[in-house]
Amino acid sequence: MQISWDKLYRAFRALVAEDDYVLGRAVRSVSQTEKAARLDLEDGSQEMADLVVGADGVGSVVRPAVTGQPSPSIYAGYVAWRGLLPESALPVQSAALLLDRFAFYTMPDSHILGYTVTGPNGETETGARRYNWVWYRRISEGELGKVLTDVQGHVHPYSLAPGQLPDSRRQVLVEDAAHLLPPPFAAAVAAERQPFIQAIFDYETPRMTHGRLALLGDAAFVVRPHTAMGVAKAAGDAMALRSGLARLPYADALQAYERERLPIGVEIASYGRQLGARLG
Ligand SMILES: Cc1cc2nc3c(=O)[nH]c(=O)nc-3n(C[C@H](O)[C@H](O)[C@H](O)COP(=O)(O)OP(=O)(O)OC[C@H]3O[C@@H](n4cnc5c(N)ncnc54)[C@H](O)[C@@H]3O)c2cc1C
Repeated sequence: MQISWDKLYRAFRALVAEDDYVLGRAVRSVSQTEKAARLDLEDGSQEMADLVVGADGVGSVVRPAVTGQPSPSIYAGYVAWRGLLPESALPVQSAALLLDRFAFYTMPDSHILGYTVTGPNGETETGARRYNWVWYRRISEGELGKVLTDVQGHVHPYSLAPGQLPDSRRQVLVEDAAHLLPPPFAAAVAAERQPFIQAIFDYETPRMTHGRLALLGDAAFVVRPHTAMGVAKAAGDAMALRSGLARLPYADALQAYERERLPIGVEIASYGRQLGARLG
């Protein structure tokens, strides 16, 4: 069974008090002394903390403070074009073949897959769900900037969200789909009015903790999406860290956390690269 990111997000967000969840204050950098960790924010303000957990994803700014070196995620040479549309928006013949199946179509250097997920409010009833498709295609590093340029001409480093893709690029995507994909998938691509894109990256941290800093989730290991394990890995990190901090002084807890989770991140990253290598 597949669920959607927004459903998962709402379930977990509801557990965090309003005042404890601050939006719109990006962190620029992180540093530490023996006594405290310090966050420097884009708005010029600072925050001091006993412990900073960098769960800041593929472009983590906490990473270099943990590893002690520049630690960028590395482009894997392909992108995922994506669509997430009401199942009712699929043309009838396409819906008859695709819905309630986990469908794949593979071709040289590319593949597309699709499956049904919950509706925007967590609906599971037929007719109220959404169809999610993911089309992996190779794009050279030189071309990546062009593909990640939004409707206002701004180049994004990792992805374009729904609504940010220029219509001219959507047109090309729909035409490519008509030429390259079997009709049910081509129709699913054409039915998506706001396709979005995520470039695929790799990153493996040599360490997950340093002093009063820790890395968690994609900040520590960016694994290929073919594993479908990124969220479970991040949740596993969070549970291991919480379990250690609940019973040990923070320095021992961080050591135990790294001992437990580093080999798991390495293993999943390696599995993801093996799966990604089959793209060719
Ligand atoms: C195409 C694709 C398909 C995927 N499919 C699946 C799947 O089916 N199943 C699965 O389990 N995983 C999947 N993943 C992976 C999954 O999305 C990630 O592993 C997961 O989102 C990682 O969670 P995270 O909390 O570590 O990071 P993120 O979800 O990236 O969250 C990081 C957060 O930090 C915030 N942030 C970043 N920088 C800063 C800053 N400087 N200051 C303040 N806040 C900041 C961001 O705004 C964001 O809210 C997929 C990934 C891709 C690219």
